[in-house]
Amino acid sequence: MTGETERLIAGLLGGGGLAEEEYARLIRARDAETASVLASKADAVRRGIYGTDVYVRGLIEISNCCKNDCFYCGIRRGNASCDRYRLTPDEILECCEEGSSLGFRTFVLQGGEDGHFTDLLLCKLIDDIKSRYPDCAVTLSLGERGRESFRLLYDAGADRYLLRHETADAAHYRYLHPADTSYENRMRCLYDLREIGYQVGRGFMVGSPGGTPETRAKDLKFIEEFKPDMCGIGPFIPHKDTPFGGFPPGSVELTTYLLSIIRLIHPPVLLPATTALATLDPRGREKGILAGANVVMPNLSPLAVRKKYALYDGKVCTGEESAECRDCLSARIESVGFHIVTARGDVKKQK
Ligand code: SAM
Repeated sequence: MTGETERLIAGLLGGGGLAEEEYARLIRARDAETASVLASKADAVRRGIYGTDVYVRGLIEISNCCKNDCFYCGIRRGNASCDRYRLTPDEILECCEEGSSLGFRTFVLQGGEDGHFTDLLLCKLIDDIKSRYPDCAVTLSLGERGRESFRLLYDAGADRYLLRHETADAAHYRYLHPADTSYENRMRCLYDLREIGYQVGRGFMVGSPGGTPETRAKDLKFIEEFKPDMCGIGPFIPHKDTPFGGFPPGSVELTTYLLSIIRLIHPPVLLPATTALATLDPRGREKGILAGANVVMPNLSPLAVRKKYALYDGKVCTGEESAECRDCLSARIESVGFHIVTARGDVKKQK
């Protein structure tokens, strides 16, 4: 590790963030030694706030119907070979019941941008979930909606909203998405969500086509400035039936390196070790936790639809019952010295 890299890491630990060019240099400086130093610093910072707790979120994939045509995504509207489904409110409530009996205290409702899920339907659903499980948090991850819609869903009881920004570089955003979606609207959503009162998650795919250390540096600067409550990053993985099906996947090592940097940029952030990371590496989740992640999101969707929510090829954990999924994750987390907690797990303030 060079003296310059040491200075960059010291700057990060100082808490004031780095300049965009410095983030790019730190990304370019990645080697095994620097990754290991960053991981141990990130681990210490995370233990100071969360100890060895890893929060668990039950993920319910409510629909794979989507009006968008993102070039990387397997459920894009243009993918004619995607076998479409949407869960009914009763099916979603059954998933919550299963999750609740397994001890989960957060339900994440994720899906494509599906007009079937109107404000009316979602408000009733959120209200039903909160009345049955008043001590649980409801997280939504349903893409871009209008400010009024976000407000109605919040007033109905939704606590958190995950909306990855995908990239903080407007030209790169344009490269990843067709012209009927915009970087400006994505950003507008994120600021609306925060103003309304949601705990907000953002994030990006590591190694998405067209990305460079400079675009990643913008992502990091953006995280430093926005200070999201949650930040979902996982490697890009190609899906054969998309325009980006021929691109190589992102790297596990770069993903864990960025997880450590993000933990140091914004110590209290809730950082998932994602399914995409586990898809590229059988020990991906454990590696993510060791690098500074402190959240896992086991799948609570009905087995019959799991394979249909195929954002990318080879997605793992599509064939296990929810209880098996939880037990497997729990064992993996324990194997690296951490433990699963089922509490709501809101973001904590730094001690
Ligand atoms: N429609 C919602 C939205 O846009 O936020 C939520 C569902 S969307 C499918 C969830 C996330 O999946 C996206 O934000 C994207 O980062 C990720 N994703 C999609 N295609 C992917 C791929 N090929 N590899 C890795 N992650 C992918």
